[in-house]
Amino acid sequence: MARNIEPKCKQCRREGEKLFLKGEKCFSDKCAIERRNYPPGQHGQKKGRLSDYGGQLREKQKIRKIYGILERQFRNIYKTADKRRGITGNILLQLLESRLDNVAYHMGFGSSRAEARQIVRHNCVLVNGKRVNMPSYLVKAGDIIQITDNAKNQLRIKTSIEAADNRNFPTWIEMDIKGMRGIFKAKPDRSELPTSINESLVVELYSK
Ligand code: SF4
Repeated sequence: MARNIEPKCKQCRREGEKLFLKGEKCFSDKCAIERRNYPPGQHGQKKGRLSDYGGQLREKQKIRKIYGILERQFRNIYKTADKRRGITGNILLQLLESRLDNVAYHMGFGSSRAEARQIVRHNCVLVNGKRVNMPSYLVKAGDIIQITDNAKNQLRIKTSIEAADNRNFPTWIEMDIKGMRGIFKAKPDRSELPTSINESLVVELYSK
């Protein structure tokens, strides 16, 4: 499976903000953005103004990196959002948020989306009691996501659920921490998602 192999902290530095790609390190003072918040490379500290197109492109790349999705797959998700009735940008974010790897991340099954994806791929997650190992599987409102009995003893899963609990779970997720399971109550409203994302720039980019 193709994946983005660019070092994670470099990806954040390129976008100039924390994308939370490295689990607990992102919440510590070891975060590269806290130390060197300028783009990587020889010319990283030179300031330049982005064109409109450049801004749209960067925003699209940023959202892709946050959710760990490659270009073609991201475009396909956008096409699906564009076909649905409603505000395309909102639907795009809701589709991204409904992916099983993302929901598993919010439930704390992995300390980052990449780790949550690995846990899904390794057959450690059940959706409504059935094993699902496709990170792109779209979770529906009311679905119950849980860790399999075999994987419940994995220390990394226990630790990251505890860490997610300390940071509070999103409002659209109801967690049973002891049971290592959660309910995806509903797709999040736009107001519940980070304001640092500007999905309308992606719509402008793809509408050209
Ligand atoms: Fe990004 Fe996390 Fe690295 Fe900080 S520690 S730069 S948030 S991946």
